[in-house]
Order: sequence, then structure tokens, then C-alpha cells
Amino acid sequence: MAESPVAVFDRLVRQDASGSTPVLFDTACVLGGSVAGLLAARILADHATEVLVIERDEADVTGRARAGVPHDRQAHVVMPGGLALMERWLPGITEEMRENGGVLVTPDGMDLFVDGVEQVRTGEGRMLLSSRPFLESALRRRVLGLPNVSAVTAQVTGLVYRGDAVSAVRYVEADSEDILPVDFTVDAMGRSSSLSDWLDEAGYSRPYQQRTETGIHYATAVFGGTATDTDRRLTSLQYPRFAGPGGLAAGMVVPIEDDLRMVGLLVYGGNRPPGSIEEFRALCDRLPAPFGRAAAGVVVRDVLRFRQATSIRRDFGGLTRFPARVVSVGDAAVSLNARYAQGVSSAALHAACLADYLAHDPDPALPAERFFASQKVATDAVWDPSTSADAVRTDILRGVAADEESEQQRSAMEQLAQAALTDRTTADACQAVRFVLAHPDTLADPALIERAVAVNQRASTPS
Ligand SMILES: Cc1cc2nc3c(=O)[nH]c(=O)nc-3n(C[C@H](O)[C@H](O)[C@H](O)COP(=O)(O)OP(=O)(O)OC[C@H]3O[C@@H](n4cnc5c(N)ncnc54)[C@H](O)[C@@H]3O)c2cc1C
Repeated sequence: MAESPVAVFDRLVRQDASGSTPVLFDTACVLGGSVAGLLAARILADHATEVLVIERDEADVTGRARAGVPHDRQAHVVMPGGLALMERWLPGITEEMRENGGVLVTPDGMDLFVDGVEQVRTGEGRMLLSSRPFLESALRRRVLGLPNVSAVTAQVTGLVYRGDAVSAVRYVEADSEDILPVDFTVDAMGRSSSLSDWLDEAGYSRPYQQRTETGIHYATAVFGGTATDTDRRLTSLQYPRFAGPGGLAAGMVVPIEDDLRMVGLLVYGGNRPPGSIEEFRALCDRLPAPFGRAAAGVVVRDVLRFRQATSIRRDFGGLTRFPARVVSVGDAAVSLNARYAQGVSSAALHAACLADYLAHDPDPALPAERFFASQKVATDAVWDPSTSADAVRTDILRGVAADEESEQQRSAMEQLAQAALTDRTTADACQAVRFVLAHPDTLADPALIERAVAVNQRASTPS
């Protein structure tokens, strides 16, 4: 009997690090040395004599922002699911990041407001809060510190194929082109990955690509000044259906390394987030106290805006003609609405899919179908909740009615979201999905939905 998505997801997140690690390849190559590429390199290190990471930006372990990743000036929250996977493959990294100044919070250190109402504190696990260069440099130090992993600064320009398998990687280093023979290749070139074009040019099937509108605009600024324990809490505001003050869809105060606070304000559609520090502070003053307090601090980095118009996913499974010995991970496979802070955890899940695939005696002459099947489960688990939440908002804005099935699902989700504000059991279940610890199908449990309906009915019955 086929494994259910819930069972596949559980297997991926709870996978044992000491699983089977046969050495399958002489040389494995990772294209792109950011979060997803580094995690993939960590997995490949168990299965290849040598792993080479090709990254166009200068390798840097000091935590500077870099050109290839424009979103790296934004704070990054690593959800408990993603952090637990990183810890499994790089034991001690969580404590190392904490010692170096990264902030770890449990749900007790987090205040979540939904449509202005504070949600009951709940959930398991720890989150890491830091700047993006901080996270990436910690991963880079650990992964490039492995004896069989190295990196080269170069631009990947294409692939070479032999007998329906990827057999070499073309790259340009210091103005001269080179060809590296490889036994296995991982595309981790991010949202704008050229892999689909390269496959197409070589006569292979393009992965099926789906885009959904997010229309989010981000503005963030970083503040310093003396931090108290209260300032080291994560505060998150969510306005799932209707805009909050200043058209806000979400907002967060994220304590990060060096005792700094990064404040993020997100708006949708025709709204624009504040562009000057004065406007930014004025909006923060209309929000719960931690926003005004953080924004009153010393400006360490001025307001920076970022626009993300769409979420994109590329599905590689079951294509008519696809080469062996190549897979795609991280944003190259799915780039999510940043509002939900699940991109890094999604990349970690893809690394789990790779570990699972390589441990199960893969046939090197065939496309990596086992990998693509589990990657689809991992991707659905983060894609479906975020894109359906985005669709609800877009439909409301456009006055579009949902079909009957979508309406039933939306109604069940609303019951759960409402009950989660006060009921610990419902909140635990919802938070486990948001934290990338459980598959969203776990929320379709009729007993859970009945419980949520009963909680909401009791709350609306006058006593
Ligand atoms: C504003 C914003 C905020 C976010 N906040 C969060 C958050 O709080 N939590 C979270 O989990 N996620 C967050 N994300 C998502 C997260 O940043 C991504 O999911 C994550 O960075 C994925 O990393 P990646 O390695 O797949 O891709 P990228 O980080 O985009 O890296 C791709 C790498 O490939 C390299 N590359 C590309 N082409 C080539 C080539 N031809 N040759 C060589 N190298 C190449 C690039 O230089 C780059 O280093 C956010 C995203 C945005 C936009």
C-alpha cells in the first residue's frame, strides 16, 4: 500500500542521521552555495568521495551580505522543523549559533497576535532568529569544514549529458570555461535557477512550473540600543483576512545577533510599506508596544524594501523525458511567500529527501523518481497552506466566490484558526504545521475540527 503523505512527511522529519550512507559517487557537485546548497552538500558528503560546491559569490564565512542573494538583508526565522534537521546533520550547530549571538526562542518566548487577538502560547521546538548572513555563514563554516567538501567561486553555465544522464558541469572561473566530470548534480541555484532552460535546450522535459500571486511588499529596518529580556522576545502580528493598521498583512519584531532587533512590516497588493524611517516609526507606534519600543532604538540599518510578486514551484516527477543523476532543491524547486518564514525549513526537507533517496539503493541510470516523489510531499506541505491562505485574501480583495469544496476547506481552517486563539490542543496542532513539524493533512482530522467548532460555539454562547 502506498505510504500516506503524513507518513512520508513524518519519515522525512524524524529520519535517523545514522541511517544507511553507502558511498555511491566519486564526485558530486552542488550548483549554488547558499542555504539549500550547503545542506545538500552535507548530505552528499556521506555518499560521495568528493563534493564540490560551485557558487558565483565569493565564499565568505564572516557573515557579510552578498550580491547573489538580495533577500539576505532580511531577518530569517528558522522554524523548529528546519532547525531540528540542521541539528541532526550538523550536531551542535544550534548551540554554536546561540553562543555566537543567534537568538533561540521557544513558544514561551514568542507573542503571536492574530487579527489583533493574542493567541494562547503553544507548540514545541525552538526557532532560530538571526540575520540571513549569520545563518548562512554558520552553515558554510560547518559544511566546508567537512574533509570531503570544498567550494569554488565560479558561474555555472550549463550541463553536459551522456546516455540520458548528467555527466559534467560547465562553469566559468576567472573568465575561463571549465568542464567538471560529475557523478551526481544538485541544482540549488535559487528561485531564478537556469536548470529548466538547460534541460529544455538539451531536449528534455521542462519541470511543470506553477506560480501563484503573493503581491507582498516587505519593509525592514534594524535597530539597536539596550535590550531587556522583553526585547528578546519574538513578536508576530498576522492579519489573515483583512488588513491591519496601515494596510498591514503581517509584522514582526525579531531579536537577532549583536542584541539588535529587526522589525519587518508586510503589506499586500496596492499598499506600499513605509519607505522612510519616520513613516516606519509612525506605523510601529500604532502597533503593539514591542514595535514602538524596538523602532525607538538607534537605527543600525535604515528601511529597506523588498517586493515578492509570486510564489513559484517546479515539479520534476513523472516527466516524459528527464535525465538521471540530477535533482533540484530549495528555492530552485519551490520559492514560497516569505511571510510564512518556511523557505529554509523547506530546503532542509529537500535535504532530507536527498538523504532518503541516497540511502535506498538508487539506480544511477534512471531519473531520481523516489526523490521527486518525497520532494512533492515536502513541497505540498509548505505550499498548500500558504498558497491557499494567499488565495483567500486575493479572492476577498477581488470579490471572487470560492467553489464549494474550497469553501468547505476554508471554513474548516477558519474554525481551527479561531479555536487556536484560546484552545491549547487546536493551537498545538496548527502550530506543528506552521513550525514544519507536521503535515497539514493532520489538520483534516474530523475530531480536531469538531473540537474547534465546539470551542468556537462555547465562546460565542452568552454565559
Ligand atoms: C524577504 C524574504 C524574507 C525571507 N524570510 C525567511 C524566513 O524568515 N525564514 C525562512 O525560512 N525563509 C525565509 N525566506 C526564504 C529563504 O530566504 C529561502 O527559501 C532560502 O534562502 C532558500 O535558499 P536557496 O539556497 O534555495 O536559494 P538562494 O538563497 O537564493 O541561493 C541560491 C544561490 O545560488 C547561487 N547561484 C545562482 N545561480 C548560479 C550560477 N549560475 N552559478 C553559481 N551560483 C549560482 C546564488 O549566488 C545563491 O548563492 C525569505 C525570503 C525572502 C525573499
